[in-house]
Amino acid sequence: MALEQSVDALITSALWRPVGLELLRGACGGWTASDLARWLLGPYQEATLYVPRSERKNTRARKVDAREVQTILRSARAEVVALLRDARWGGGPEFVRTAIRDRAIVPTSSGLWIPLDKSRMLLKDRVLALFAADYLLRPQDYVGDLIVCSKCEEVVFDPAARQTGYCGAHRISGLFGVKAKQATLMRWQVEHAKTRMRMRPS
Ligand SMILES: [Zn+2]
Repeated sequence: MALEQSVDALITSALWRPVGLELLRGACGGWTASDLARWLLGPYQEATLYVPRSERKNTRARKVDAREVQTILRSARAEVVALLRDARWGGGPEFVRTAIRDRAIVPTSSGLWIPLDKSRMLLKDRVLALFAADYLLRPQDYVGDLIVCSKCEEVVFDPAARQTGYCGAHRISGLFGVKAKQATLMRWQVEHAKTRMRMRPS
């Protein structure tokens, strides 16, 4: 791969994760077909290396209805989130190996892996290729900082979130939850101590 492509790869590497996360948020935020098209032709195309498609004259653009788009988005999200969850254990996650095997990501001369925008890729494979290239560049973020919020399933890279298990929006309520549990436990301990005092033979 040419040097200028390696330089491009280094510049676009900052986009891989935010662009992947943008789709995951959109998928549960009610994205429509036009939102998905905007992502594919905008941020996604900027973050990937375009592989020219062989022109096929007889391909008719199939009309996809709104419900179908929602289903595609939701199932892509579910699969990506499940695979990212496993990436927290490190050791060469499955989706990274798959992306290399399927040539969804390719190495550059500078040792960087870049995601490709090829024809006939499933949406989940496009998103996973972004995360796979990002993982190979910054594996420690996945092992140390990645969490899937236990309340809303948002994927977050944040060591503080890793400690609580909640995203920023739910961290406060999560803390209240912990505090409430602690208060209940303390009340129980006090009651228990009182009962024991009463039961103690005089
Ligand atoms: Zn959350």
